Amino acid sequence: MTRLALLLDMDGVLYRGRHVLPGVPEALAQLEAAGHELCFATNNGWSSAEEISERLQHMGISVRPERMATAAWAAAKLLHTRWPAVRRPYVLGSAEVARQLRERGMQPVAEEDHQQADALVVGIDLELSYRKLARAQAVGLRGVPFLATDMDGAYPWEDGWLPGSGSLVAAVERATGRTAVPAGKPEPFMYRALLQGLPEGLLPVVIGDNLGTDIRAGRAAGFATILVLSGIATAADAAAAPPEERPDYVVADLAAAAAWIVGGDAISDEHGR
Ligand SMILES: [Mg+2]
Repeated sequence: MTRLALLLDMDGVLYRGRHVLPGVPEALAQLEAAGHELCFATNNGWSSAEEISERLQHMGISVRPERMATAAWAAAKLLHTRWPAVRRPYVLGSAEVARQLRERGMQPVAEEDHQQADALVVGIDLELSYRKLARAQAVGLRGVPFLATDMDGAYPWEDGWLPGSGSLVAAVERATGRTAVPAGKPEPFMYRALLQGLPEGLLPVVIGDNLGTDIRAGRAAGFATILVLSGIATAADAAAAPPEERPDYVVADLAAAAAWIVGGDAISDEHGR
């Protein structure tokens, strides 16, 4: 049996809104019992993995925080890896982004000290103001490394949408004439970072509900991809997707994916490589 490193998205795969999708706790248990490793990647840039894990626990889903990559975590890791000399980033983003940067030994500058910043990190900021934007612009115009947690333009919320971090990143890009380096999906960075913590020799397989982020990131990394239809994308969307966003497999939901993976030899090395 090929052991898989399953790289799962969360919203639309495990739950929708406040509701666990049918059969999810059982599917996760089934996959683990069959010897597969489970990891989770989310473009959430304001909660910690511990907070998300706790929320999931209340829903009856057990996910270890150390197996979870958030966009805030990924942005700090990417900055630290690519630009190890950076010490004092300016953050237009959540407290969680600042916390993750401190965890890696950096000291985010206070707003009034923005002239001393040696990097710029932009993500969702619920206290966004014109002044903060102007300061991010000033930092960006100095040519320092410019990172984004992720480029999600909008977040689903109750019955509608809210502006996502990508909307704020776009404002800073426009104001500076620069392009941010994103850490979240559809960049494959989070998947690769998660795999670093796993034993070698596992076959990576992405499971997600979003063609433009989950599946695109999986394809970019050269991994096999499974689209679940329990979230955003429909079967018609998958069929109409451009090659770089076309999933290898389409299944109804995680329960169906688990039954199929555990039940047979469906996924082999030849896929997605
Ligand atoms: Mg999703």
